[in-house]
Amino acid sequence: MIVDCHTHWHPDWAKGAPTDPTAWLGVLDRHGIGHAIVLPTRGLFDDTLIEADNNEVAAVCRASSGRMIPFCTVRLWQEARALAELDRCLGPLGFQGIKFHPWVQAVPVNHVLMDGVCERAVAAGVPILFHDGTPPCSLPSQIGLLARRHPRATLILGHCGLLEYWEEAIEVLRRFENVWGCLCGPHPAAMREIARAAPLERLCWGSDFGFGNTDLVDYRLRLFRAAELRDNEQARILYENPRRLIRTIPQAPVS
Ligand SMILES: [Zn+2]
Repeated sequence: MIVDCHTHWHPDWAKGAPTDPTAWLGVLDRHGIGHAIVLPTRGLFDDTLIEADNNEVAAVCRASSGRMIPFCTVRLWQEARALAELDRCLGPLGFQGIKFHPWVQAVPVNHVLMDGVCERAVAAGVPILFHDGTPPCSLPSQIGLLARRHPRATLILGHCGLLEYWEEAIEVLRRFENVWGCLCGPHPAAMREIARAAPLERLCWGSDFGFGNTDLVDYRLRLFRAAELRDNEQARILYENPRRLIRTIPQAPVS
């Protein structure tokens, strides 16, 4: 079974009820994806929708029999409101992680506003996933600066630097033990080099599925397979490592 560590929920995927995951999960089923980290979409682009979007993501994940693992987002420039929303999400709503898209949300990764978020994430025992690979707000090195300031926080490079900053991602992954990398964006040769040079035990894979209606799972799985990693490396990245990152993912049945 594969774990997709980078997907998004958008209500356009719902058939019937606005939080029905059937069609969305149908795409994952086609590719043998058992579980997925589910990030918001609408709340990232429109901060007036953040609370409603968090509610929807929580509801759709609740309807997925544990297959969809919810990550929330908040709008950091209104700090008190953001931290209150974070407490609601990590408490009663049961979110298992936090997501930021720093250049869309206009907060640099290493801004002091991120300190309260990191402290809450550590207290709740959940990771924070960042869009990365895009200057000026979300470079891997900026996530490295935050990782140095908060060594107990688990921070995920949501794209391993994309196409242009994957070498910087390798440096950050090597230097900071609390940083993970999601292979979602670099080309196959870059993925091969990341797997060779960065700590394998902190790598995972993701598709970015959920934006629009294209089957990004198919596309990004093909790219990952084209990197031609060894079978045991693929197993660690696609399943064993995500299970350590998200503890509610069950042990795969022995086949
Ligand atoms: Zn994404």
